[in-house]
Amino acid sequence: MTSYRGPVFEMAVKQFEVIANYLSIPDDARPRLLLPKRSVTVSCPIHRDDGTTAVFEGYRVQHHLTLGPTKGGTRFAPTVDLGEVAALAIWMSWKCALVGLPYGGAKGGINVDPSTLSKRELEALSRRYMQEMIPFVGPHTDVMAPDLGTNEQIMAWFMDTYSMYQGQTVTEIVTGKPVSAGGTLGRREATGRGVAHLVRRAADELKIRLNGSTAVVQGFGNVGSIAALELHNMGVKVIAVSDHTGALYRPRGLDIPQLVRHASSQGSLDGYSNELALDPAEILTVPCDVLVPAAVERVIDAGTAAKLRCRILAEGANGPTTPEADRILEARQDEVFVIPDILCNSGGVVVSYFEWVQDLQRLFWEEEEVMRREYQLLDRAFDRVLARSKGENLFNRTAAMAIGVERVRGAKETRGLFP
Ligand code: NAD
Repeated sequence: MTSYRGPVFEMAVKQFEVIANYLSIPDDARPRLLLPKRSVTVSCPIHRDDGTTAVFEGYRVQHHLTLGPTKGGTRFAPTVDLGEVAALAIWMSWKCALVGLPYGGAKGGINVDPSTLSKRELEALSRRYMQEMIPFVGPHTDVMAPDLGTNEQIMAWFMDTYSMYQGQTVTEIVTGKPVSAGGTLGRREATGRGVAHLVRRAADELKIRLNGSTAVVQGFGNVGSIAALELHNMGVKVIAVSDHTGALYRPRGLDIPQLVRHASSQGSLDGYSNELALDPAEILTVPCDVLVPAAVERVIDAGTAAKLRCRILAEGANGPTTPEADRILEARQDEVFVIPDILCNSGGVVVSYFEWVQDLQRLFWEEEEVMRREYQLLDRAFDRVLARSKGENLFNRTAAMAIGVERVRGAKETRGLFP
């Protein structure tokens, strides 16, 4: 019995079962690896601008504490519930272990549509959420970061609120902060850059020339817009992009720098051009060399998996592919090379780790140093995943997750069971 429910949590459980079976993990060892160590639900009341009071439910889940503090983003979205947050915390654990970071996974969030709040209301909610979390988090316990619906400004409010209660500035309590508030150079771009870097590694492996190839990107927020821009800068024609307001398609290639400027000034792709509109439901099946889902989870189900027309599926989002779709993609391995989410978007947590290290040391690096070290860790993880998938003839996701799960399991076994 568990209190975690919902389709996203069930997906994390199913994925784990595949790996646990593959690794022949005994039944009695599975719950200790899978079930989150701690979770908290909080009510966050705020004054609305119209004078009324509203209460929003917030969550934080810490998956395991075996390798160090937990680490994970904070999501503000109307879908957020305890099960979704728990699944995302579990995925963070396998991701951190895969890339070799001294963290367990965590995740948090508030069930809210942030676009319905004024800036003052958003600040009040962000500060109240952090205040409610103070007994539960800390620079050596659980370190927060941005995710869907949150950004650098919200991280700065989190850091300021925590610091006010401690009576001193504690920059290392969150990552993804603005550089002016103790953030690191290269964090905002880290996830999208990492996605593009790994696309290049996959293209080299498949002997695809990226210059002149085509890409499609779903989601045009932090991850999607930077990934699109990086691919564009590598000479890739980004032919379709989408966000929650709609989709754009131009077979000759979209003007990505202009779209990035539009999205950052307007907040979305809306209003860019009606001439280029595409049915958003079709974006994932547009024929292309590189497909980057960078929006929300479970967008590629079995039906879509069978219809994908890309050579490389670079999972910028967390959990974009369902276990049913995985079975189809596993059978289509020779046609579609999957860069699984826990590898593909791990550049974000890698640079968050660098930010935490720099904050603890009060010693800051140049952006080139941040990028060099990010790509080094990503290359190492990519090589390990590829060696494992080739060596044991495995689906890339199975290989990546097996490496992550094995590391957590190994640490638990070495430390033993207390008391
Ligand atoms: P964001 O809020 O900055 O952007 C999300 C984008 O997705 C927006 O453009 C939004 O309009 C779009 N979107 C939402 N619903 C959509 C839908 N149904 N169809 C098409 N587009 C839709 O969020 P982000 O930080 O870019 O995160 C995107 C994904 O990447 C999430 O799955 C997140 O967990 C994952 N991720 C983010 C980071 C990070 O560093 N930000 C790191 C690792 C993974």
